[in-house]
Amino acid sequence: MELKKSETVVLYPSPGIGHLISMVELGKLLISRSPSLSITILSPSFRFNTGSYSSYISSVSSVFPSITFHTLPPIPLLRGDPGNYSDMEEIIFETLRSNNPNVHQFLNSLSRSCPVSAFVIDFFSYPALEISRSFQIPTFFFVTSGASVLALFHNLPVFDKLAGDGYRNLGTTPFHIPGLFSVPANHMIEPMLDRGPTYYEFVKMAESLRNSDGIIVNTFESLEPRAVKGLKEGSCLPGILIPPVYPIGPLIAYRGGEGGGGERNECLSWLDSQPSRSVVYLGFGSRGVFSAKQLGEIAVALERGGVRFLWVIRAPPSEDRADQFLPPPAPDLNSLLPVGFLDRTKDRGFVAKSWVPQIDILGHKAVGGFVTHCGWNSTLEAVCAGVPLVAWPLYAEQRFNKILLVEEIKIALPLNESDDRFVCSDEIERRVKQIIVSEEGEAVRKRVLQLSAEAKAALGEGGTSKMALAKLVESWKR
Ligand code: UDP
Repeated sequence: MELKKSETVVLYPSPGIGHLISMVELGKLLISRSPSLSITILSPSFRFNTGSYSSYISSVSSVFPSITFHTLPPIPLLRGDPGNYSDMEEIIFETLRSNNPNVHQFLNSLSRSCPVSAFVIDFFSYPALEISRSFQIPTFFFVTSGASVLALFHNLPVFDKLAGDGYRNLGTTPFHIPGLFSVPANHMIEPMLDRGPTYYEFVKMAESLRNSDGIIVNTFESLEPRAVKGLKEGSCLPGILIPPVYPIGPLIAYRGGEGGGGERNECLSWLDSQPSRSVVYLGFGSRGVFSAKQLGEIAVALERGGVRFLWVIRAPPSEDRADQFLPPPAPDLNSLLPVGFLDRTKDRGFVAKSWVPQIDILGHKAVGGFVTHCGWNSTLEAVCAGVPLVAWPLYAEQRFNKILLVEEIKIALPLNESDDRFVCSDEIERRVKQIIVSEEGEAVRKRVLQLSAEAKAALGEGGTSKMALAKLVESWKR
Protein backbone atom coordinates (compact mmCIF):
# COMPACT_ATOMS: atom_id res chain seq x y z
CA MET A 1 0.00 0.00 0.00
CA GLU A 2 1.33 3.49 -0.83
CA LEU A 3 1.30 6.52 1.42
CA LYS A 4 -1.28 9.14 0.43
CA LYS A 5 -0.30 11.66 -2.30
CA SER A 6 1.74 14.76 -1.47
CA GLU A 7 2.71 13.53 1.96
CA THR A 8 6.19 14.28 3.18
CA VAL A 9 8.62 12.62 5.55
CA VAL A 10 11.04 14.90 7.38
CA LEU A 11 14.51 13.56 8.13
CA TYR A 12 16.72 15.27 10.70
CA PRO A 13 20.29 13.94 10.53
CA SER A 14 23.11 15.19 12.72
CA PRO A 15 26.08 16.93 11.09
CA GLY A 16 28.73 14.51 9.83
CA ILE A 17 28.90 12.69 6.54
CA GLY A 18 28.61 9.28 8.21
CA HIS A 19 25.23 10.29 9.68
CA LEU A 20 23.96 12.04 6.56
CA ILE A 21 24.66 9.42 3.87
CA SER A 22 22.57 6.64 5.38
CA MET A 23 19.73 9.06 6.19
CA VAL A 24 19.69 10.18 2.53
CA GLU A 25 19.68 6.53 1.45
CA LEU A 26 16.66 6.01 3.70
CA GLY A 27 14.97 8.92 1.92
CA LYS A 28 15.72 7.40 -1.50
CA LEU A 29 14.39 4.04 -0.37
CA LEU A 30 11.13 5.60 0.81
CA ILE A 31 10.70 7.44 -2.49
CA SER A 32 11.36 4.28 -4.49
CA ARG A 33 8.60 2.60 -2.49
CA SER A 34 6.17 5.50 -2.70
CA PRO A 35 7.03 7.74 -5.67
CA SER A 36 4.43 10.36 -4.72
CA LEU A 37 6.16 10.94 -1.39
CA SER A 38 8.53 13.85 -0.90
CA ILE A 39 11.45 13.93 1.51
CA THR A 40 12.58 17.02 3.39
CA ILE A 41 15.96 16.91 5.06
CA LEU A 42 16.60 19.39 7.86
CA SER A 43 20.24 20.28 7.72
CA PRO A 44 21.84 22.12 10.65
CA SER A 45 24.46 24.77 9.77
CA PHE A 46 27.74 23.48 11.13
CA ARG A 47 31.19 24.90 10.49
CA PHE A 48 33.23 22.07 12.01
CA ASN A 49 34.70 18.97 10.38
CA THR A 50 31.87 16.98 8.84
CA GLY A 51 33.70 15.16 6.02
CA SER A 52 32.60 16.26 2.55
CA TYR A 53 29.09 17.11 3.82
CA SER A 54 28.23 20.14 1.65
CA SER A 55 29.50 18.73 -1.64
CA TYR A 56 27.51 15.57 -0.93
CA ILE A 57 24.34 17.64 -0.32
CA SER A 58 24.77 19.47 -3.65
CA SER A 59 25.26 16.20 -5.52
CA VAL A 60 22.12 14.65 -3.98
CA SER A 61 20.02 17.76 -4.68
CA SER A 62 21.05 17.78 -8.32
CA VAL A 63 20.02 14.16 -8.91
CA PHE A 64 16.97 13.70 -6.65
CA PRO A 65 14.45 16.54 -6.99
CA SER A 66 12.03 14.87 -4.55
CA ILE A 67 14.63 15.30 -1.82
CA THR A 68 14.74 18.88 -0.56
CA PHE A 69 17.32 20.16 1.90
CA HIS A 70 16.23 22.86 4.32
CA THR A 71 19.25 24.46 5.95
CA LEU A 72 18.67 25.69 9.49
CA PRO A 73 20.16 29.10 10.38
CA PRO A 74 23.65 29.15 11.92
CA ILE A 75 23.72 29.26 15.71
CA PRO A 76 26.75 30.48 17.70
CA LEU A 77 28.22 28.11 20.28
CA LEU A 78 26.98 28.92 23.79
CA ARG A 79 30.52 28.80 25.16
CA GLY A 80 32.05 30.76 22.26
CA ASP A 81 35.45 29.28 21.51
CA PRO A 82 35.29 25.64 20.33
CA GLY A 83 38.40 25.05 22.44
CA ASN A 84 36.05 25.23 25.47
CA TYR A 85 34.44 21.96 24.38
CA SER A 86 35.90 18.59 25.24
CA ASP A 87 34.81 16.66 22.17
CA MET A 88 33.02 16.99 18.83
CA GLU A 89 29.99 15.14 20.18
CA GLU A 90 29.46 17.85 22.81
CA ILE A 91 29.35 20.49 20.05
CA ILE A 92 26.95 18.39 17.98
CA PHE A 93 24.55 17.73 20.89
CA GLU A 94 24.52 21.44 21.80
CA THR A 95 23.99 22.59 18.21
CA LEU A 96 21.02 20.29 17.74
CA ARG A 97 19.48 21.27 21.08
CA SER A 98 19.90 24.99 20.29
CA ASN A 99 18.10 24.38 17.00
CA ASN A 100 14.85 23.35 18.69
CA PRO A 101 13.14 26.74 18.12
CA ASN A 102 14.07 26.53 14.42
CA VAL A 103 12.74 22.99 14.19
CA HIS A 104 9.51 24.16 15.84
CA GLN A 105 9.09 26.99 13.38
CA PHE A 106 9.86 24.72 10.43
CA LEU A 107 7.44 21.93 11.43
CA ASN A 108 4.78 24.49 12.22
CA SER A 109 4.90 26.03 8.78
CA LEU A 110 5.39 22.73 6.92
CA SER A 111 2.49 20.94 8.61
CA ARG A 112 0.14 23.75 7.48
CA SER A 113 0.98 23.14 3.84
CA CYS A 114 1.28 19.36 3.67
CA PRO A 115 0.70 16.30 5.85
CA VAL A 116 3.88 15.11 7.58
CA SER A 117 3.71 11.30 7.72
CA ALA A 118 6.72 10.91 9.94
CA PHE A 119 9.69 12.72 11.48
CA VAL A 120 12.86 10.64 11.51
CA ILE A 121 15.65 11.87 13.76
CA ASP A 122 19.26 10.95 14.33
CA PHE A 123 20.05 9.98 17.91
CA PHE A 124 22.07 13.22 18.31
CA SER A 125 18.88 15.13 17.33
CA TYR A 126 16.94 13.66 20.28
CA PRO A 127 15.92 17.06 21.80
CA ALA A 128 13.67 17.55 18.73
CA LEU A 129 11.45 14.68 19.89
CA GLU A 130 9.52 16.99 22.22
CA ILE A 131 8.86 19.38 19.31
CA SER A 132 7.44 16.78 16.93
CA ARG A 133 5.43 15.32 19.80
CA SER A 134 3.76 18.72 20.32
CA PHE A 135 2.59 18.53 16.67
CA GLN A 136 1.56 14.89 17.13
CA ILE A 137 3.81 13.79 14.29
CA PRO A 138 4.88 10.12 14.54
CA THR A 139 8.56 10.25 15.42
CA PHE A 140 11.18 7.60 14.80
CA PHE A 141 14.84 7.45 15.65
CA PHE A 142 17.30 6.43 12.99
CA VAL A 143 20.36 4.75 14.47
CA THR A 144 23.24 5.13 12.01
CA SER A 145 25.20 2.47 13.87
CA GLY A 146 24.27 -1.17 14.43
CA ALA A 147 21.64 -3.02 16.45
CA SER A 148 24.26 -3.98 19.06
CA VAL A 149 25.02 -0.30 19.66
CA LEU A 150 21.29 0.33 20.01
CA ALA A 151 21.14 -2.44 22.63
CA LEU A 152 24.06 -0.73 24.39
CA PHE A 153 22.25 2.65 24.21
CA HIS A 154 19.18 1.14 25.84
CA ASN A 155 21.35 -0.06 28.72
CA LEU A 156 23.18 3.23 29.33
CA PRO A 157 20.75 4.46 32.04
CA VAL A 158 21.17 1.09 33.82
CA PHE A 159 24.97 1.13 33.47
CA ASP A 160 24.98 4.73 34.74
CA LYS A 161 24.28 3.45 38.25
CA LEU A 162 27.36 1.19 38.07
CA ALA A 163 29.71 3.57 36.27
CA GLY A 164 31.21 5.21 39.38
CA ASP A 165 33.45 8.16 38.46
CA GLY A 166 33.26 7.19 34.82
CA TYR A 167 34.13 4.17 32.68
CA ARG A 168 37.75 5.20 32.18
CA ASN A 169 38.61 4.52 35.81
CA LEU A 170 36.98 1.08 35.70
CA GLY A 171 39.51 -0.40 33.26
CA THR A 172 38.33 -3.71 31.90
CA THR A 173 35.37 -4.16 34.31
CA PRO A 174 32.71 -5.92 32.20
CA PHE A 175 29.30 -4.33 31.56
CA HIS A 176 26.90 -6.99 30.37
CA ILE A 177 24.25 -6.28 27.73
CA PRO A 178 21.55 -8.92 28.34
CA GLY A 179 21.39 -11.47 25.52
CA LEU A 180 24.48 -10.03 23.86
CA PHE A 181 28.02 -9.73 25.20
CA SER A 182 29.98 -7.90 27.87
CA VAL A 183 31.77 -4.66 27.09
CA PRO A 184 34.91 -3.84 29.05
CA ALA A 185 34.43 -0.36 30.61
CA ASN A 186 37.33 1.05 28.59
CA HIS A 187 35.60 0.01 25.32
CA MET A 188 32.52 2.15 25.97
CA ILE A 189 31.60 5.07 23.70
CA GLU A 190 34.72 7.28 23.68
CA PRO A 191 33.25 10.63 24.84
CA MET A 192 31.42 8.75 27.64
CA LEU A 193 34.61 7.48 29.26
CA ASP A 194 34.52 10.43 31.68
CA ARG A 195 31.44 11.89 33.35
CA GLY A 196 31.37 15.14 31.36
CA PRO A 197 28.51 16.89 29.51
CA THR A 198 28.59 14.38 26.64
CA TYR A 199 28.26 11.45 29.06
CA TYR A 200 24.98 12.86 30.38
CA GLU A 201 23.71 13.73 26.89
CA PHE A 202 24.10 10.08 25.89
CA VAL A 203 22.20 8.89 28.97
CA LYS A 204 19.37 11.37 28.29
CA MET A 205 19.32 10.36 24.64
CA ALA A 206 19.02 6.71 25.66
CA GLU A 207 16.06 7.54 27.89
CA SER A 208 14.32 9.46 25.13
CA LEU A 209 14.70 6.53 22.69
CA ARG A 210 11.98 4.83 24.77
CA ASN A 211 9.50 7.62 24.03
CA SER A 212 9.67 7.33 20.25
CA ASP A 213 7.28 5.45 17.98
CA GLY A 214 10.00 3.17 16.73
CA ILE A 215 13.70 2.88 15.99
CA ILE A 216 15.08 2.35 12.50
CA VAL A 217 18.52 0.74 12.45
CA ASN A 218 21.02 0.59 9.62
CA THR A 219 21.73 -3.11 9.87
CA PHE A 220 20.28 -6.42 8.72
CA GLU A 221 19.11 -9.33 10.81
CA SER A 222 21.70 -11.92 9.89
CA LEU A 223 24.56 -9.48 10.53
CA GLU A 224 23.56 -9.03 14.19
CA PRO A 225 21.03 -11.77 14.93
CA ARG A 226 21.40 -11.77 18.72
CA ALA A 227 21.05 -7.99 19.02
CA VAL A 228 18.06 -7.82 16.67
CA LYS A 229 16.35 -10.64 18.57
CA GLY A 230 17.01 -8.95 21.93
CA LEU A 231 15.62 -5.65 20.62
CA LYS A 232 12.54 -7.24 19.09
CA GLU A 233 11.75 -9.26 22.20
CA GLY A 234 12.76 -6.47 24.57
CA SER A 235 15.10 -8.88 26.35
CA CYS A 236 18.08 -6.53 25.93
CA LEU A 237 16.51 -4.28 28.57
CA PRO A 238 14.42 -6.53 30.81
CA GLY A 239 11.45 -5.01 32.60
CA ILE A 240 11.24 -1.86 30.47
CA LEU A 241 9.06 -1.42 27.41
CA ILE A 242 11.10 -0.42 24.36
CA PRO A 243 9.71 0.74 20.99
CA PRO A 244 9.65 -1.53 17.93
CA VAL A 245 12.86 -1.86 15.98
CA TYR A 246 13.15 -1.80 12.17
CA PRO A 247 16.45 -3.22 10.83
CA ILE A 248 16.24 -2.00 7.22
CA GLY A 249 19.89 -1.93 6.10
CA PRO A 250 22.47 -2.06 4.85
CA LEU A 251 21.94 1.47 3.52
CA ILE A 252 25.15 2.64 1.91
CA ALA A 253 25.95 5.34 -0.66
CA TYR A 254 25.92 4.64 -4.37
CA ARG A 255 29.14 3.61 -6.04
CA GLY A 256 30.27 6.24 -8.54
CA GLY A 257 28.79 9.11 -6.48
CA GLU A 258 25.42 10.72 -7.10
CA GLY A 259 26.08 12.36 -10.45
CA GLY A 260 28.51 9.75 -11.67
CA GLY A 261 29.71 12.24 -14.30
CA GLY A 262 32.77 13.61 -12.47
CA GLU A 263 36.35 12.69 -13.21
CA ARG A 264 37.43 9.26 -12.01
CA ASN A 265 39.75 9.49 -9.04
CA GLU A 266 43.38 8.68 -9.78
CA CYS A 267 43.51 6.03 -7.05
CA LEU A 268 40.84 4.00 -8.90
CA SER A 269 42.89 3.99 -12.10
CA TRP A 270 45.84 2.82 -10.03
CA LEU A 271 43.70 0.01 -8.58
CA ASP A 272 42.79 -1.05 -12.16
CA SER A 273 46.41 -2.07 -12.66
CA GLN A 274 46.63 -4.21 -9.50
CA PRO A 275 45.90 -7.95 -9.28
CA SER A 276 42.58 -9.11 -7.88
CA ARG A 277 42.16 -8.95 -4.06
CA SER A 278 45.82 -7.99 -3.60
CA VAL A 279 45.58 -4.47 -2.14
CA VAL A 280 45.02 -3.50 1.48
CA TYR A 281 43.16 -0.20 1.84
CA LEU A 282 43.88 1.94 4.92
CA GLY A 283 41.25 4.63 5.54
CA PHE A 284 39.93 6.05 8.79
CA GLY A 285 36.53 7.67 8.28
CA SER A 286 35.77 11.36 8.20
CA ARG A 287 37.68 12.24 11.37
CA GLY A 288 40.45 9.68 11.82
CA VAL A 289 43.88 11.27 12.34
CA PHE A 290 47.21 9.99 13.68
CA SER A 291 50.27 11.59 15.25
CA ALA A 292 53.32 11.99 13.02
CA LYS A 293 55.00 9.20 15.04
CA GLN A 294 52.13 6.77 14.37
CA LEU A 295 52.07 7.67 10.65
CA GLY A 296 55.79 6.89 10.50
CA GLU A 297 55.15 3.52 12.14
CA ILE A 298 52.45 2.64 9.59
CA ALA A 299 54.85 3.55 6.78
CA VAL A 300 57.55 1.26 8.21
CA ALA A 301 55.03 -1.61 8.43
CA LEU A 302 53.82 -1.13 4.86
CA GLU A 303 57.31 -0.89 3.45
CA ARG A 304 58.60 -3.93 5.30
CA GLY A 305 55.44 -6.03 4.77
CA GLY A 306 55.73 -6.04 0.99
CA VAL A 307 51.93 -6.03 0.55
CA ARG A 308 50.24 -3.75 -2.02
CA PHE A 309 48.48 -0.82 -0.34
CA LEU A 310 46.26 2.22 -0.83
CA TRP A 311 46.63 4.58 2.14
CA VAL A 312 44.73 7.81 2.86
CA ILE A 313 46.80 10.19 4.97
CA ARG A 314 45.54 13.21 6.92
CA ALA A 315 47.60 15.85 8.69
CA PRO A 316 48.17 15.03 12.40
CA PRO A 317 45.81 16.72 14.90
CA SER A 318 46.44 20.39 15.58
CA GLU A 319 48.11 21.30 18.88
CA ASP A 320 45.55 24.09 19.21
CA ARG A 321 42.39 22.71 20.84
CA ALA A 322 40.14 25.17 18.99
CA ASP A 323 41.42 23.90 15.62
CA GLN A 324 40.98 20.20 16.31
CA PHE A 325 37.31 20.32 15.35
CA LEU A 326 37.98 21.96 11.97
CA PRO A 327 38.76 20.05 8.76
CA PRO A 328 42.50 19.27 8.85
CA PRO A 329 44.79 20.99 6.30
CA ALA A 330 46.30 18.90 3.48
CA PRO A 331 49.11 16.73 4.87
CA ASP A 332 52.72 17.44 3.94
CA LEU A 333 53.75 13.93 2.88
CA ASN A 334 57.44 14.78 2.60
CA SER A 335 57.68 15.77 6.23
CA LEU A 336 55.39 12.99 7.54
CA LEU A 337 56.75 9.93 5.72
CA PRO A 338 60.22 8.37 6.00
CA VAL A 339 62.66 9.82 3.45
CA GLY A 340 62.36 7.93 0.15
CA PHE A 341 59.26 5.96 1.23
CA LEU A 342 57.05 7.07 -1.67
CA ASP A 343 59.77 6.28 -4.18
CA ARG A 344 60.64 2.87 -2.76
CA THR A 345 57.00 1.74 -2.64
CA LYS A 346 55.74 3.38 -5.83
CA ASP A 347 55.32 0.08 -7.69
CA ARG A 348 52.97 -1.39 -5.12
CA GLY A 349 51.60 1.51 -3.09
CA PHE A 350 49.38 4.54 -3.59
CA VAL A 351 49.19 7.33 -1.02
CA ALA A 352 46.19 9.68 -1.21
CA LYS A 353 45.77 12.93 0.68
CA SER A 354 42.82 13.55 3.03
CA TRP A 355 39.81 12.09 1.18
CA VAL A 356 39.09 9.30 -1.34
CA PRO A 357 35.94 7.77 -2.92
CA GLN A 358 35.84 4.96 -0.36
CA ILE A 359 32.75 3.19 -1.61
CA ASP A 360 34.33 2.79 -5.07
CA ILE A 361 37.60 1.63 -3.56
CA LEU A 362 35.96 -1.07 -1.46
CA GLY A 363 33.93 -2.20 -4.46
CA HIS A 364 37.04 -2.49 -6.66
CA LYS A 365 38.11 -6.06 -7.37
CA ALA A 366 41.77 -5.28 -6.54
CA VAL A 367 40.97 -4.57 -2.87
CA GLY A 368 41.38 -7.56 -0.57
CA GLY A 369 41.49 -6.04 2.94
CA PHE A 370 40.58 -2.87 4.82
CA VAL A 371 42.34 -1.41 7.86
CA THR A 372 39.44 0.55 9.33
CA HIS A 373 38.56 2.77 12.28
CA CYS A 374 35.39 0.60 12.64
CA GLY A 375 32.94 3.38 11.73
CA TRP A 376 29.58 1.78 11.00
CA ASN A 377 29.22 3.04 7.42
CA SER A 378 32.72 1.85 6.60
CA THR A 379 31.84 -1.51 8.12
CA LEU A 380 28.66 -1.90 6.07
CA GLU A 381 30.43 -0.77 2.90
CA ALA A 382 33.08 -3.45 3.48
CA VAL A 383 30.45 -6.10 4.24
CA CYS A 384 28.55 -5.29 1.02
CA ALA A 385 31.79 -5.50 -0.97
CA GLY A 386 32.92 -8.70 0.80
CA VAL A 387 36.15 -7.11 2.06
CA PRO A 388 37.56 -8.38 5.41
CA LEU A 389 38.72 -5.93 8.07
CA VAL A 390 41.57 -5.12 10.39
CA ALA A 391 40.04 -3.21 13.33
CA TRP A 392 41.80 -0.03 14.47
CA PRO A 393 39.17 1.95 16.45
CA LEU A 394 39.85 5.65 17.05
CA TYR A 395 36.79 7.59 18.31
CA ALA A 396 33.00 7.55 18.93
CA GLU A 397 31.60 4.01 19.46
CA GLN A 398 34.40 2.34 17.51
CA ARG A 399 36.03 0.40 20.37
CA PHE A 400 32.66 -1.21 21.01
CA ASN A 401 32.36 -1.94 17.28
CA LYS A 402 35.79 -3.58 17.36
CA ILE A 403 34.52 -6.18 19.86
CA LEU A 404 31.42 -6.68 17.74
CA LEU A 405 33.37 -7.13 14.50
CA VAL A 406 36.12 -9.32 15.92
CA GLU A 407 34.31 -11.49 18.46
CA GLU A 408 30.64 -11.48 17.49
CA ILE A 409 30.41 -11.06 13.70
CA LYS A 410 33.94 -12.41 13.07
CA ILE A 411 34.83 -10.33 10.03
CA ALA A 412 37.81 -8.48 11.50
CA LEU A 413 41.25 -9.16 12.93
CA PRO A 414 42.12 -6.96 15.92
CA LEU A 415 45.17 -4.69 16.07
CA ASN A 416 46.77 -4.84 19.48
CA GLU A 417 47.74 -1.47 20.87
CA SER A 418 49.77 -0.35 23.88
CA ASP A 419 48.23 1.42 26.89
CA ASP A 420 48.70 4.81 25.23
CA ARG A 421 47.04 3.39 22.10
CA PHE A 422 50.18 3.33 19.99
CA VAL A 423 50.34 0.45 17.50
CA CYS A 424 53.82 -0.73 16.60
CA SER A 425 54.95 -1.49 13.06
CA ASP A 426 55.38 -5.24 13.74
CA GLU A 427 51.71 -5.56 14.70
CA ILE A 428 50.48 -3.57 11.69
CA GLU A 429 52.69 -5.57 9.33
CA ARG A 430 51.53 -8.90 10.81
CA ARG A 431 47.81 -8.10 10.53
CA VAL A 432 48.04 -6.54 7.07
CA LYS A 433 49.73 -9.68 5.74
CA GLN A 434 47.23 -11.93 7.50
CA ILE A 435 44.19 -10.16 6.11
CA ILE A 436 45.42 -10.31 2.52
CA VAL A 437 47.34 -13.55 2.15
CA SER A 438 47.93 -15.82 5.08
CA GLU A 439 45.87 -18.63 6.58
CA GLU A 440 45.04 -16.66 9.76
CA GLY A 441 42.85 -14.39 7.63
CA GLU A 442 41.04 -17.18 5.82
CA ALA A 443 38.11 -17.47 8.25
CA VAL A 444 37.30 -13.74 8.21
CA ARG A 445 37.70 -13.62 4.40
CA LYS A 446 35.16 -16.42 4.02
CA ARG A 447 32.77 -15.04 6.61
CA VAL A 448 32.59 -11.57 5.05
CA LEU A 449 31.84 -13.04 1.61
CA GLN A 450 28.98 -15.01 3.11
CA LEU A 451 27.63 -11.86 4.80
CA SER A 452 27.93 -9.93 1.56
CA ALA A 453 25.51 -12.38 -0.06
CA GLU A 454 23.22 -12.21 2.98
CA ALA A 455 23.19 -8.39 2.79
CA LYS A 456 21.89 -8.57 -0.80
CA ALA A 457 19.28 -11.13 0.21
CA ALA A 458 18.09 -8.96 3.12
CA LEU A 459 17.38 -6.06 0.75
CA GLY A 460 15.86 -8.21 -1.98
CA GLU A 461 12.31 -9.46 -2.51
CA GLY A 462 11.10 -11.22 0.67
CA GLY A 463 14.31 -10.20 2.49
CA THR A 464 14.22 -9.26 6.18
CA SER A 465 15.18 -5.60 5.61
CA LYS A 466 12.66 -5.13 2.83
CA MET A 467 9.93 -6.56 5.06
CA ALA A 468 10.99 -4.37 7.99
CA LEU A 469 10.70 -1.30 5.75
CA ALA A 470 7.20 -2.34 4.68
CA LYS A 471 6.20 -2.71 8.34
CA LEU A 472 7.62 0.70 9.18
CA VAL A 473 5.69 2.47 6.42
CA GLU A 474 2.57 0.54 7.40
CA SER A 475 2.91 1.80 10.98
CA TRP A 476 2.86 5.43 9.75
CA LYS A 477 -0.60 4.90 8.32
CA ARG A 478 -1.97 3.78 11.67
N1 UDP B 1 34.45 8.36 3.42
C1 UDP B 1 34.84 8.54 2.12
N2 UDP B 1 36.13 8.90 1.89
C2 UDP B 1 37.05 9.06 2.87
C3 UDP B 1 36.63 8.85 4.20
C4 UDP B 1 35.33 8.49 4.45
O1 UDP B 1 34.05 8.41 1.18
O2 UDP B 1 38.22 9.36 2.57
C5 UDP B 1 33.05 7.98 3.68
C6 UDP B 1 32.93 6.49 3.95
O3 UDP B 1 32.76 5.77 2.75
C7 UDP B 1 31.71 6.43 4.86
C8 UDP B 1 31.76 7.76 5.61
O4 UDP B 1 32.58 8.62 4.85
O5 UDP B 1 30.52 6.38 4.09
C9 UDP B 1 32.35 7.59 6.99
O6 UDP B 1 31.41 7.01 7.82
P1 UDP B 1 31.80 6.03 8.99
O7 UDP B 1 30.55 5.70 9.72
O8 UDP B 1 32.57 4.88 8.51
O9 UDP B 1 32.78 6.85 9.90
P2 UDP B 1 32.67 8.31 10.58
O10 UDP B 1 33.30 9.26 9.64
O11 UDP B 1 31.22 8.58 10.84
O12 UDP B 1 33.48 8.13 11.80
